[in-house]
Amino acid sequence: MLKVKIFEKNDEKMKFMVSDLSLGMAGELRRIMTSEISTMAIEWVNFIKNDSLLWDEIVAHRLGLIPLTFDVQFYSLKKECKCKDKGCAHCEVTLVLKKKGPCIVYSGDLKSTDKKVRPVYDKIPIVELNEEQEIELEATAQLGTGREHAKWQASVVGYKTDEKKKDFTFNLETASGLKPEEILTKSIETLENKLNELSKRLSDSK
Ligand SMILES: [Zn+2]
Repeated sequence: MLKVKIFEKNDEKMKFMVSDLSLGMAGELRRIMTSEISTMAIEWVNFIKNDSLLWDEIVAHRLGLIPLTFDVQFYSLKKECKCKDKGCAHCEVTLVLKKKGPCIVYSGDLKSTDKKVRPVYDKIPIVELNEEQEIELEATAQLGTGREHAKWQASVVGYKTDEKKKDFTFNLETASGLKPEEILTKSIETLENKLNELSKRLSDSK
């Protein structure tokens, strides 16, 4: 079991120390925290109307970068879902957007079909609409990992070490709808599973 000591935490950031790590394990833990933890982001956008000055692709790209909250227990990665990648309520969420100018359309204007799936921040600007311009779209969000695309990156992490003691101090900042503590807990669990599997494989090969 890895020993973790938390120094500071809030909803965005966390500072903690993990003891008795090798340099390789510390790097692996960082990689897990940024790239292997699943988060929710918009993947598909169906435009019904877009009179704005921005192309559909640009609006879709902006929508993809909005961090979304979600119920970790409820949602699965599409490819690991019971529906076998077909898409169902456990792996996909629909969000709709319908606005008429003049106005600035913000992340908070997205209406989700699941109240637990919503933008972490309401004031991320998406597009500006002039008089009489309209935008109407239906977006589909799903889980993914930072390894697949940066928009699913769970967090930004830096660390430093006291080499003699093998203690590593990490600074983690969430980049997703997950709280720093959720990312840490899931990451430690993932690292421990990897280490157990490795030691099992080593003892099997003896
Ligand atoms: Zn499904």
